[in-house]
Amino acid sequence: MYHQINTIEELHIELTNKCNAACPMCDRNYCGGSTRPELNLTEWERDDIARVFSPALSSLRNVLFCGTHGDPMIAKWSLEAVEFVKSKTRATVEFYSNASGRTSDWWSELGRLLSSRVGGRDRHYRQNDLGIFSIDGLGDTNAIYRRHTNFEKIMENATAFIRAGGIARWDFIVFEHNQHQVEEARAQAQKMGFKEFRLRKTARFNYSPLGPEEGPVYSSRGSLEYSIRPPTLAEYRNDEVDKFEQLKHIYGSADGYFEAAKISCLYQQRFKRIYVNSEAKVFPCCYLANDTVASSPEAAKSATAKRIPNIRQDTQQKVYQKTGLEFNSLRRHSWDEILHHPWLQSELESSWTATLSTGKLKRCARTCGDAYSPILSQSHDEELAHLRNKEQECP
Ligand code: SF4
Ligand code: SF4
Repeated sequence: MYHQINTIEELHIELTNKCNAACPMCDRNYCGGSTRPELNLTEWERDDIARVFSPALSSLRNVLFCGTHGDPMIAKWSLEAVEFVKSKTRATVEFYSNASGRTSDWWSELGRLLSSRVGGRDRHYRQNDLGIFSIDGLGDTNAIYRRHTNFEKIMENATAFIRAGGIARWDFIVFEHNQHQVEEARAQAQKMGFKEFRLRKTARFNYSPLGPEEGPVYSSRGSLEYSIRPPTLAEYRNDEVDKFEQLKHIYGSADGYFEAAKISCLYQQRFKRIYVNSEAKVFPCCYLANDTVASSPEAAKSATAKRIPNIRQDTQQKVYQKTGLEFNSLRRHSWDEILHHPWLQSELESSWTATLSTGKLKRCARTCGDAYSPILSQSHDEELAHLRNKEQECP
């Protein structure tokens, strides 16, 4: 069984798929331009909070509020959801945000809620609450990637959060345009009272329509405004970007590697984690949830699609066309009913050792195959090296 309710230790929550920003390598938009029309923009209702954080989740230790298509700060009931977790469970909370929204009072309230430490109570890797501020540069560079954000507002909000007692981390994705600011940002983080500063080495240039050395940034009308590039300094580059091309060469094709890859499930085996999306639907992980969003005809024809196989379509054909997309709704079913659905009961796990023609999912092979780790390779954190492989990907 993928999970039993009383063995789940982590929930990854997408409260909303709406966002104030337009990061060029985020799946919610076309390279920083318009929001993808295939996304059904939606978010949790207040009643979803009690539906999702059920007392039956008796082993729950950590809740990550981190949307694959949205920023939890935007959701109407985000403070209520965090407060519910903090008052009704013993779980720690991680809250990922670009932080360029809401008022500083709102951030003070969040900081007050995210201020506790576990105190060595158990072996779980997360020992305290954490507000994660995704800030990829300083005043003159952050909005090159975090488009439509305001650096001064972010600094005000982070200051309010930290002053209220919130435990904060600054996450910094390194590009060519901000690599010279890493040490300055680290010093600023320390001065402001961030408890951690983490560099992230993105593997997402792998999916760029212009190839792995350049990412286009489009206007909302679809015209090219400028490009972003991976860092040139070796210490900030993600080796996995080249590795996938090498694997395609070694195995003859991407499918050749997917067929051969031995799968070790990040969510189930490493984190004991499960994902709930902005419609309160349960998925094994954020990657398979992502595959419910149809590819636009435009994307399917793009240069990226020629380099990277259409994994989304593979999942849709093998899974969602059979299961439909209501079997996993906590608005219609209980946790127990969803976890006992045949796909989560047994079919998903069996697929990991099947062949591509008998059900193995290309998504599972690409994300959790043994020779390629686009997710785990993104963390780069000297201070917390022992946790490097424990982190997950959030936008
Ligand atoms: S990566 Fe995060 S902040 Fe950026 S557009 Fe996507 S959801 Fe918004
Ligand atoms: S992609 Fe497949 S193997 Fe990887 S975390 Fe998701 S369910 Fe597990």
